[in-house]
Amino acid sequence: MNAARRPLIVGNWKMHKTVAETRAFIAELLAANLPEEIDLVVAPPFTALGAAHEALAESTVALGAQTMHEGAQGPFTGEISPVMLLELGVTYVILGHSERRLLFGESDAWVNSRVRSAIAHGITPIVAVGETSKERQAGQTDRRVIAQTVAALDGLDATDAARVVMAYEPIWAIGTGANCDPVEANRVMGEIRKSVGGLNDVPILYGGSMKPENVASYAQQPDINGGLVGGASLDPVGFAALIEAAARHA
Ligand code: PEP
Repeated sequence: MNAARRPLIVGNWKMHKTVAETRAFIAELLAANLPEEIDLVVAPPFTALGAAHEALAESTVALGAQTMHEGAQGPFTGEISPVMLLELGVTYVILGHSERRLLFGESDAWVNSRVRSAIAHGITPIVAVGETSKERQAGQTDRRVIAQTVAALDGLDATDAARVVMAYEPIWAIGTGANCDPVEANRVMGEIRKSVGGLNDVPILYGGSMKPENVASYAQQPDINGGLVGGASLDPVGFAALIEAAARHA
């Protein structure tokens, strides 16, 4: 990781953990000796954000949401607004995760309006981009991730672009155990960094089957500034081990 960009590790719990499980997880995570040199975020489901906020109150671990609507309020059944997230202490929001794009039809235009709204509300967007295995095999990886990055940040000036966190998540690596080669991930992340003005100093995270056993090989890469972690963020002991291993090699 590049020392100029503070490393960041984000745990994306997806649709896992009740309120009680969230409280138990956070108590156990905070009991571990977490390294100070890494910024940490946990992103529980909406229903557990309030409990997580209370449980994290005395810690430096920040709270993230897994998506949000762009509007402050309105007739949008089932949606959650940035104003509601702010009230629960949320300071980060994951936007454009491939599961949102592929399973719930989130378009580039939606991702863009949500990124703009998050920035306008003072919430840091973690913008996920990544290619399918078919796109990779067809040699379209760079084109795909650059197009997604440009679309997600459309209309932002360099000052606002510098407020985002990017995440490169090859879709074929998510939840499969088939993590991307770290040198190749670093290369793609360099392309993402160059694709829009203002990204030079933003953290770019790798996501896709990151584990305590492989995090060091990513942490050693200059353009990789941390991780967006799914499965390996669900167990507090394993997640603390991953964070510790990242800190040792940052
Ligand atoms: C993710 O969904 O953001 C992710 C990276 O998942 P996993 O770590 O389980 O591959």
